[in-house]
Amino acid sequence: MAKATLTPADFATFYENFNAPVSRFDCGQKCAPLNGGSPVCCSTQAAVPVVHKVEFELLKSRTDLWTKFKPYDFSTRQIVEELTHDCCAVECKGAQFCERDNRSIACRGFPFFPYLTRQREFVGIGTYWTFEDRCWMMSNLEVVDRKFVEEFIATYESLFLKDPSEFKTYVDFSASARRVFSRWKRPIALLGRQGELLIVDPPTGAIRPGRKADFPKNKPFTSDKDYREAIKEAGGEMPKTGLRAA
Ligand code: SF4
Ligand code: SF4
Repeated sequence: MAKATLTPADFATFYENFNAPVSRFDCGQKCAPLNGGSPVCCSTQAAVPVVHKVEFELLKSRTDLWTKFKPYDFSTRQIVEELTHDCCAVECKGAQFCERDNRSIACRGFPFFPYLTRQREFVGIGTYWTFEDRCWMMSNLEVVDRKFVEEFIATYESLFLKDPSEFKTYVDFSASARRVFSRWKRPIALLGRQGELLIVDPPTGAIRPGRKADFPKNKPFTSDKDYREAIKEAGGEMPKTGLRAA
């Protein structure tokens, strides 16, 4: 495996250039009612942020927001055990203490990952599908800003140049996406390099331009009724604007 040459200063540059919000809507208010009042991607009960060890060094030099994550059950122990030697799992103090400039790359990019084709082309960004039943954004890809996609892609391109093992990680992860979606017999939705919708046929890897009807809608984000029921089950409160982007 190629040796990582990343430094904390590289991450400081990534942070400067990757600041665009995913969209102009506050999506946290849509998923928090399903997750005990905290946005899903800001709660280690739901998602554990993983950072490069050198990124953690940078964060520790800038803020006391972050600490090393302590696993609390079997699946979180597994997450930590499966990490590569240059990464670690971390935890912030929680959404109410968020410091925008000290968010990790994992925070800035959620719920997206760099999608690489079988030919190893970086054609766009896919979503971490295991969160599709809790992350409103994944059912509302049409509201993602082009600037966010462009900054995401530029950041990961720089990261891949500096650390080829990161590139390999996402080559493999994209292949897993194709395997999982092949099994599910579902297409993979991507946002292409200019923010356009692309649809991957998982068994062949072929890509075609997406149409409006191809934007994925996952339960419970399929209707106000489904959403209301899921919120009731989770003991949360329906946002005033319901499911609608607002
Ligand atoms: S990206 Fe998804 S999980 Fe994170 S705050 Fe938005 S809707 Fe919630
Ligand atoms: S730093 Fe902010 S965006 Fe990142 S997990 Fe914590 S609260 Fe969420």
